[in-house]
Amino acid sequence: MKRLPVEPVMRALARAIDGLELPAVEKISESQEEDPFQVLIATLLSARTQDATTLAASTRLFKAARTPRTMAALTVRQIERLIYPVSFYRHKARHVRATCVLLMERYGGRVPGTMEELLTLPGVGRKTANLVLILAFKSRQNICVDTHVHRIANRLGWVRTKTPDETEQALYAVTDRRWWPLINLYFVTWGQNVCRPVYPRCEACAIAGLCPRIGVTRASRRRTA
Ligand code: SF4
Repeated sequence: MKRLPVEPVMRALARAIDGLELPAVEKISESQEEDPFQVLIATLLSARTQDATTLAASTRLFKAARTPRTMAALTVRQIERLIYPVSFYRHKARHVRATCVLLMERYGGRVPGTMEELLTLPGVGRKTANLVLILAFKSRQNICVDTHVHRIANRLGWVRTKTPDETEQALYAVTDRRWWPLINLYFVTWGQNVCRPVYPRCEACAIAGLCPRIGVTRASRRRTA
């Protein structure tokens, strides 16, 4: 089997993302000292939403309530108003409140630290659970695959998959364990700045020499990121 250039890609990305803006959930995690509850809620809000919007909505929500108990005391309508305009804000407001109620009823007001338990929370899928485990519980056993990770792993030819869940499983098989907690941070940052969904900036890409650009039909000709 052909050996993938995982190590050089990850090393090049580590250097290249230095100085770029961190993804919203990473910023919240850093500023809140990896508080599992805030990482969980911010990740729930971040799905299909621009980072700046996620950050602003999370900040408004956490100003109103910072714990499962105080957030469960808000109405769904209040949460909707606080998190608007994140995408699917009505759905997300319902999930946020239901999650807080469940955390109070079943987990003593604490965010559980296992995949199995996290998946029992409303609106929490593997992406959210993996990110909470990596950022808040410092797990080194998980890879968090969102749309950026899924896209870039396929463009690099590391995996050939149709869904993020398939990509997660395939990445466990082809990457060294020590990169697992970093793949999300590196690929999301790269995906937001360079390897964008449309017109990726291949000419400005630090890993262009290691990337077969699978599925890329039109790249941006701009050289600056
Ligand atoms: S060379 Fe292009 S397709 Fe490959 S990682 Fe860089 S931006 Fe993405």
